[in-house]
Formats: sequence, C-alpha cells, structure tokens
Amino acid sequence: MEKSIYDPVELLPQVGPKRLEALHQLGIYTILDVLSHYPFRYEDIQVKDLAEIEDQEKVTLKGNVVSEAVLTRFGPKKNRLVFRLAIDHAVIAVSFFNQPYLKSKIIAGEELAVFGKWDGKRKSLTGMKILGVAANDEESSNYESIYSTNKGIKQKTIFQLVENAYERYQDVIPEIIPTYLREKYRLIRHCEAIYGMHFPTEEEQTKQARREVVFEEFLVFQMKMQVLRKQEKAVGRGTAILYDVAALRQFITSLPFELTKAQKRVVNEICGDLRQSLHMHRLLQGDVGSGKTIVAAIALFATADAGFQGALMVPTEILAEQHMESLSQLFEATNVKVALLTGSTKTKERREILAGLATGELDVIVGTHALIQEDVQFARLGLVITDEQHRFGVNQRRILREKGEHPDVLFMTATPIPRTLAITAYGEMDVSVIDELPAGRIPIETTWTRPKNFELTLEFIERQLRKGSQAYVICPLIEESESLDVKNATDIYEKLCYYYEPKQFNVGLLHGKMKPAEKEAIMDAFKNNKIQVLVSTTVIEVGVNVPNATTMVIYDADRFGLSQLHQLRGRVGRGTKESYCILVANPKNETGIERMKIMTETTDGFVLSEKDLELRGPGDLFGNKQSGVPEFKVGDIVGDFGALEAARQEAAALINQENFFDNPDYAPLRREVGLENISALDFD
Ligand code: ADP
Ligand code: MG
Repeated sequence: MEKSIYDPVELLPQVGPKRLEALHQLGIYTILDVLSHYPFRYEDIQVKDLAEIEDQEKVTLKGNVVSEAVLTRFGPKKNRLVFRLAIDHAVIAVSFFNQPYLKSKIIAGEELAVFGKWDGKRKSLTGMKILGVAANDEESSNYESIYSTNKGIKQKTIFQLVENAYERYQDVIPEIIPTYLREKYRLIRHCEAIYGMHFPTEEEQTKQARREVVFEEFLVFQMKMQVLRKQEKAVGRGTAILYDVAALRQFITSLPFELTKAQKRVVNEICGDLRQSLHMHRLLQGDVGSGKTIVAAIALFATADAGFQGALMVPTEILAEQHMESLSQLFEATNVKVALLTGSTKTKERREILAGLATGELDVIVGTHALIQEDVQFARLGLVITDEQHRFGVNQRRILREKGEHPDVLFMTATPIPRTLAITAYGEMDVSVIDELPAGRIPIETTWTRPKNFELTLEFIERQLRKGSQAYVICPLIEESESLDVKNATDIYEKLCYYYEPKQFNVGLLHGKMKPAEKEAIMDAFKNNKIQVLVSTTVIEVGVNVPNATTMVIYDADRFGLSQLHQLRGRVGRGTKESYCILVANPKNETGIERMKIMTETTDGFVLSEKDLELRGPGDLFGNKQSGVPEFKVGDIVGDFGALEAARQEAAALINQENFFDNPDYAPLRREVGLENISALDFD
C-alpha cells in the first residue's frame, strides 16, 4: 500500500491503544488530522537579562533544570514545589504554590520555560505556568508552538507526533489549492505552510503559513457550498415562470409608491430567476421596514400572471393577517385571487380554500404552519416564499417546497446578516440585499440611561402618553432568577401600575407563559389603545405593528444582543410621529458600554449586526446550533473576511471552468470536496 496523508494515525510510532483513544478525543484520526492539529498560539520567549527584569515583573524565563523539584507540604491543600533553574551563568530558585502535579514535568537536566513573577530582592521566580516544551530544537530559537491537549496527552507527545508525521509524510501532503491561485495570491506551498505552522522560528513565518492554511480551509468550504448550490438549482431543473413583462411593469407602476433603488435591484434579481428554468434558491435580506413585503408581492404577481400559484408562509397569525391585508390591497385592481389560511380559519372556509388551491382557482395563499398540512394540495405551485425564515425549521420549509413540482424558493429575513455570515451560513444560496430604507423615515432617537434614573424615564414616558402616544417596556425574563440578577417583568409591571394608574393610564403585561387567547386579548387592547403602556418580555419581537406606540424602553438592555435590540427598537418609528428608544442598563464592562453607545449612534441594522459579530461572535447572532455557521480550524470569518470573500469568488469561478473535472491539478481539491468519483456533473 502506498502511504497516504489519510492513513490512520496509529501507523505512527508510539501510538498504542491508550494514546490512540486520547488522540481520538482530540478529533485526530488520520495523519492529516495530526498535521492540521495546529498550535493554538505561539510563545515568543524573550529571554531577558536577569539584571534587566524589574521587581514583580511578569516574565518568561528559559533555562536548564539543575535540581530535583522538592515538594514541601504545609497543610492538606497547601504546598510548595521548589527547583533551581540555570540561566546563562546564574542559578535562580523557582517556586510553584499548590500545583504538586507539576513535579513530573520538572526533570533535572532538561530545558524548561517558566512564566511567572520575578522577585527582585530574593532573585527568585514565583511560577505561574510551565510552558510547552520547545517546539524547535534549534538553540537559536525562542519561538514555541503551544498545542491544545487533553488529560491523556502532553504537549511534548503531540509535538513528537507532529514531527514524526511530518518527517514521514511530507512528500505526500496534497497541494489542494490549484497552482494558478497559489500564484495569484502569492501563497507558499501547503507542505511549507504546515512546516511553518508547527516549527516556526519567528512570527513572520507563522503569518505566511497561516495565510495559506486559511485560504485552503475557506476554499474547500466555499467549493462545497458551490457544489450544493449547483445541485440545489438543478433539482427537477425547475420551472420557467414566463410572466408577461409588460403586465408586470404595469403592476409595478400601479403601486402606491416608487420602489427604492435597492428594491428595484432585488426585484430584477428575483424575477430573472423566475423566468429561468433553473431552480431558484434565494435569500432576501433587508432591515426592518426596508420593504420586503412589496418585493414578495411583485414576485407573487409575476407567478400568478404566468399561470402558477404562489404561497407566502409566515411564523405567526398576526403576521399572516398583516400580509393578507397588504396583499389584498395591492392585488385589488388585478385579477390575482388571494386567500388566508391559518389555524383559526373556520372549517367551511378552509374547505373552500383547499378546493380553490387544488383546482388552481386561487393564485396566492398566505398562511402559517397551516399551509404545510397534508390535505393542502396545489394545482401548480410555482413559488414558495417564507417570511422571517429563521423562525422556521428546515423541515417545515422543505415540506412546503415538496408540495409542488420543485417550486422556486425565496427566503426573506429581517435579521440583517452581515455579509460575512451570509456567504458562510447561506453560501449555497443566492443572496439579495435591500440595503436602503424608503425615503422620509424619521430616525428613532435612542438614549441610554442608568437604572437609577428610572424615575426620569417614567416621567418621559408620561409626557408621551399625555400626547396620546403609547409605550412598550421590555424586560428580559419572566421568572425570578437570582443567578442572573434579571429584573422580573411582573415586578416592573406592578411598579408601573402603581405609578401610572392613578394618572388614568392603563398598564398591561405580556409574556410567553400566557395562553394564546390571553396574549391576543392583551395585544388587541394595546392595538385599540385600551392599554397605554405594555410591559412585555421579548415575545413581541416579531411582527407587531402598532404605529401609535412611539416609545420603546428596554430594561437591562445590556443583556440583549445588538441585533435583538435593533429588532425590538423597530417596533416603534412606524408612524408619522417622532419615536424614542430608551436603553436602561448598567453594563459591567467595556464591551457592554460600547454596545450601548453604538445603539445610540446608529439605526443601521447592518452596521449593528457587523458589530455584534465582532463583539459577541457568530453563535450569539442566531442562537448557536441553528446558525449554520461552520467552525473553521484556523480561519476567522471576521478577521479573515478578505480571504473568505476571495475564496468564494474563486470557488464560483472554478466550478464553472470547463475542465474542472478533468484537470489533474485540481484532483486534490476535488477529493477534498468529495467529488473524487465524479468525472463530470451535468448540472445545468
Ligand atoms: P419589512 O421589510 O420590514 O417587511 P414592509 O414590507 O412591512 O417592511 O414595509 C414597511 C413599510 O414601508 C410599509 O408600510 C410599506 O408600505 C412601506 N414601503 C415599502 N416600500 C416603500 C417605498 N419604496 N417607498 C415608500 N414606502 C415603502
Ligand atoms: Mg416584513
């Protein structure tokens, strides 16, 4: 058998069953896994002249252990470990407190690097950490690789495995990045990069190595996305929705307002997809209020005009009703027939709607999950749109799609997704962006105040109430949780009742534990201005539209992500009156303060979500598992965004090259992407 980078790791010397198990726990199964178990940081050991170190300075010292380590116990849990370290011509004492297990790492005669605090008077070091064993044996280098390890395996062992693997397999390390890209981006060879990652002698070397490794990682990922995308588009080869261009143009002219530039652009993108016999798989993102509904309406009109049916699925009944209202108005002067189907639709009406869909008499259906029930059948489903797509499970979206002969699919989301995330999490989709709000919106004025000023906030709200407006007060959690120190919604509700009711204003409480009927009653009362102040948890986040509400107070605002704060804030500023958002928070750290400040400075959802990504990482933006954002070993989707974008463009170009499946230079890449047994894909 020829040796291969994909050989199992147990082929390396000194890998017995026990060590193998420890390696498996680290996710290391093959030689390639060993070689790509990169150091997670490097220790640049500045060996200072002892005379130069200041008293109490934290330093890393490297020297030879010249005595056994002696352990002295003072009590059951108190002890000290002392040994001597020879540095140049001096010998110093090093002590570790209460870390007796370090004894086995201190071996007389061996070289060791210790990080600790220098005691200038005693000429001794209080050790804090023993650093990884030198990654490179050359005397001249003080640059060391530090690996992540686990209980069963030590730094030194990992390092030796990497060394062994490199020695034996360096000549079979595949060069996955095609030569022309390697030249274009001036990347070193992968084999050299692996060497530079593990055995660097200076920082510059790790930088060059990292560039190559990151690009390879991103390119492989983006290639996988491109393959998915091609397959997705090829399903059933789609249906061409051949609407009448003049009719569509006339419909657009008949709209009550002129589309924004961004809306025009995305309408072109979407309608272009519809006409083609490819399968559309597109994400439409646009901030709250950017006007996605109208874009959906145009696509649905085009679909109906071509003789197909369209479905618009939304997560809540409130939203479904809202959309039904807008669509009915927009389609009023056309002959597009639209109906609403939700869990509350009465039996008789439901029967009629189902019949209308099955015969094709109905053109457009708006609804909730009720749309994906088994008895809902379409005559000619051509387009499926889901609004607030992140609220639906993958399965729910799929079921609706499978009802037709591979209808075109459009996902809409108000969560502004930074471009970085869009091209990773949604890399297999086409993305359309509405990055502009209709003209003439009054920006919401946002302020940040400390909880101790809450009295002032209450007075501010009162002034708004006296002008006839309404207000929201948002609290994070309903149940008392001591550990989280979060204000209790009920508590606030009671306080506000006490404050406002004598002044003839009504206060309501809304939270997730209430029954749907109770919630609806409260919402209705708020909509009809029977309640002026609504205390609520985040259940109101999506779809609520009460234009008379002009003030949004968010308690403990530092506990929310920026994107979530932005969504909440979007509940006001929907009418013609000036609107306000008041963030009440006592942030404990710099990041918290920074986040509050950013909220007061911008109302641009994209800026905020980019910032959120930077401050909190991608997981928090969507909730961890659902985010679909892959974990990269080395690459950082924020810091290495340029490389990610370049990789995406190159991947898209590569897969469309005529000789992609034949060029031997691409064989390692094809294998890495999982296309090794495919000679050509006739996708389209
Ligand atoms: P979202 O993108 O949050 O779903 P909507 O589609 O609900 O936003 O639109 C918000 C409001 O803006 C609606 O009242 C809609 O009629 C209005 N609107 C949409 N597009 C335009 C436009 N081009 N010019 C003026 N108003 C618009
Ligand atoms: Mg919307």
